Amino acid sequence: MREYKIAAIPGDGIGPEVISAGLQVLETLAGQDGGFKLGVEHFPWSSDYYLEKGYYIPEGGLERLKQFDAIFFGAVGALNVPDHVSLWGLRLPIAQGFDQYANVRPARVLPGVKSPLANGKDIDWVIIRENSEGEYAGNGGRTHRGLPIETGTETAVFTRAGVERIHRFAFEIAQKRPRKHLTLVTKSNAQRFGMVMWDEIFYEVAKDYPDVKVDRELVDAVTTRMVLKPHTLDVVVATNLHADILSDLAAALSGSLGIAPTANLNPERLFPSMFEPIHGSAFDITGKGVANPIATFWTAAMMLEHLGEKPAAERLMAAIEQITANGVFTPDLGGHATTASVTEAICKVLADQVKKAA
Ligand code: NAD
Ligand code: MN
Repeated sequence: MREYKIAAIPGDGIGPEVISAGLQVLETLAGQDGGFKLGVEHFPWSSDYYLEKGYYIPEGGLERLKQFDAIFFGAVGALNVPDHVSLWGLRLPIAQGFDQYANVRPARVLPGVKSPLANGKDIDWVIIRENSEGEYAGNGGRTHRGLPIETGTETAVFTRAGVERIHRFAFEIAQKRPRKHLTLVTKSNAQRFGMVMWDEIFYEVAKDYPDVKVDRELVDAVTTRMVLKPHTLDVVVATNLHADILSDLAAALSGSLGIAPTANLNPERLFPSMFEPIHGSAFDITGKGVANPIATFWTAAMMLEHLGEKPAAERLMAAIEQITANGVFTPDLGGHATTASVTEAICKVLADQVKKAA
């Protein structure tokens, strides 16, 4: 029996609600399939933990995490901790410390879900976000604090190695998709150095993938293309900041932030990869039992695929699509379902799949 060690970090806000739903679905799948088992360990690292202890990740925490096959992450961010403290305290040390440089963000409109776009069914994208450097490299500082001449700098850092590896990763993804199309997104008109280097390295790497069609768009222009001509995009590669923004737009255009998944991958598998819904802590709905767990279920499917459990991943995606087609929707999708009822519905579809196959 194949066994995977999963580190669950539910975190803050609706994080614990959706991660517990996600684990329930994963356990159901593992129990049915017979082929694999999950050993799940919970890590209580969160903003409450930080307020009590003074740190998000205890000493040696990353070393412990390193023993796992994958990390299943909820969300971090609380009203009583500044966002830059929570983000840099928990999520970024894991993503950057484990060199999870490829952030994969698929977007499509699931059956039954209503896109705010009339042509929303044309959305079938994968946004590849550089996840280790760029605008979130943590390079910058504050000088003359509190004085009238106070200065703040925020320096984006782009390395040839970092840019080349994300482009190569994006080409590999594009090459495996039916349309084999990759769009490079930068802002190399206004930003003359790092962004121009991004463009140059892209076309160098492109030579190794002659079967992939490429084009290029400035980041501002690509937002209009996403809205007006969604069918013209397939795979998009962009920097840490740009892709962060574009993927929230992609999530909204696909129906809700509550369905969008993401994988933070260390493609070389030197470290565990981390899987999380795109959304944050969602303070406005925390504790109400209405958080949409679908982003987390889709995330779980990406995690299963990464672990090599492709049939289970496909079964889970099929179950997700069946319940969205049936209109089992939480309020963000215009329905009255709860986190628990969506979870039960998915588990029932999974059970029916097994009965049908038997
Ligand atoms: P958010 O994603 O938490 O919420 C934005 C809106 O989307 C809210 O109205 C929320 O109710 C809704 N929403 C989000 N997820 C949903 C779900 N599963 N089901 C139904 N509705 C959902 O973003 P925000 O309000 O900008 O940020 C809140 C906190 O989360 C902040 O502290 C922020 O720093 C943090 N955050 C963390 C992550 C992360 O951990 N990766 C990502 C984004 C934001
Ligand atoms: Mn974001």
